[in-house]
Amino acid sequence: MVKKKAIITGISGQDGAYLAEFLLNKNYQIIGTDRRSARGNNWRLKRLGIIDKIKYEEMELSELYEIESIFKKYKVDEVYNLAAQSFVATSFKSPLNTSNITGLGVLRILETIKSVNKKIKFYQASSSEMYGKIVEKKQNEKTPLNPQSPYAISKVFGHYITDNYRESYGLFAVSGILFNHESPLRGEEFVTRKITLGLVKIINNDLKCLELGNIYAKRDWGYAREYVKAMWSMLQQKKPKDYVISTGKTYSIKYFINLATNYLNLKTRWVGKGLNEKLIDLKKNKVIIKINPKLFRPSEVNILKGDSSLAKKDLGWYPKTALKELVKIMLDEEIKYYKK
Ligand code: NDP
Ligand code: GDP
Repeated sequence: MVKKKAIITGISGQDGAYLAEFLLNKNYQIIGTDRRSARGNNWRLKRLGIIDKIKYEEMELSELYEIESIFKKYKVDEVYNLAAQSFVATSFKSPLNTSNITGLGVLRILETIKSVNKKIKFYQASSSEMYGKIVEKKQNEKTPLNPQSPYAISKVFGHYITDNYRESYGLFAVSGILFNHESPLRGEEFVTRKITLGLVKIINNDLKCLELGNIYAKRDWGYAREYVKAMWSMLQQKKPKDYVISTGKTYSIKYFINLATNYLNLKTRWVGKGLNEKLIDLKKNKVIIKINPKLFRPSEVNILKGDSSLAKKDLGWYPKTALKELVKIMLDEEIKYYKK
């Protein structure tokens, strides 16, 4: 049987690694692109044991000619656009770069598909951050968008331009609106991984105190490894459609911390209020978490909670891993690979 071929942009990221693993199990040939492939930001692919099974190409999303040359070189069936400047906090510091990569990068790929081969199926990594200051309690595919950061606004552009190329040129182009999804492969700058790594450093006496921003923000957190299946399923449907992928539950950062400290058997207590709120390790009588106002965002997204009933109906996709289990998966691997 002829192998299906797929390009994954952002292969070195969390989702790129898990999606590559998933598609390899489906016998795909993978062309993985990122801007650093030659420089070896490949720890995730190494950890999953798939580093030698992927063909790597360097492809800057800001360079149309690079995108075109890769698409002409490989005759692929599917493209998964996961590459992005993906960190909200950085997008406030680098709004232009974020717009260029996370927003316009999508258009560069769509233009290339339109001119090279309109049959290529396209997946765009849209984000729940697009809902921003929410206007409905649970967000689904029809909920109005209200983005609050240069990152989210760039994702809105990517989302609408994908819809527009589907409608205007008949491309099989879809967006998955994924709510936050975490794993042991999550980048260290994102709050869940910052917490799991930080606590393991504290236990090993390599860090005294972890500093966080707004611990009352709430997120709908799922397990990344099971979210990539939904990406693939969207491209296997008869009709191209956008889908929300989420757990439907929402918890605060503080709740996540409590789950993590419980799992690590730390005896702790929260004291103080507002910027003076702290988490004390009762055995050592030391502050292990405190608030740093510099880590608050200029504009915050306070709460997100998704409704993925359409994905359940059409794709048969639903989340299987509860947050408590996800915290366990993350901490077990954090401990296993610490300093290795
Ligand atoms: P990561 O930050 O882990 O990965 C981002 C990838 O994009 C990396 O491979 C990175 O490469 C690459 N990249 C960054 N800048 C460029 C550029 N200029 N040119 C080419 N490649 C670039 O993100 P995730 O895997 O967590 O997320 C995947 C996608 O899904 C992203 O688009 C993200 O915005 C989106 N998303 C993620 C959610 C989540 O909760 N994880 C939720 C909703 C959407 P390098 O290694 O060189 O930095
Ligand atoms: P996001 O939802 O894509 O922005 O994912 P993050 O994991 O970066 O942030 C989730 C939430 O955690 C946001 O509301 C942040 O304001 C909040 N948060 C609180 N403290 C921190 C911190 O120290 N780092 C990060 N990344 N987020 C924090």
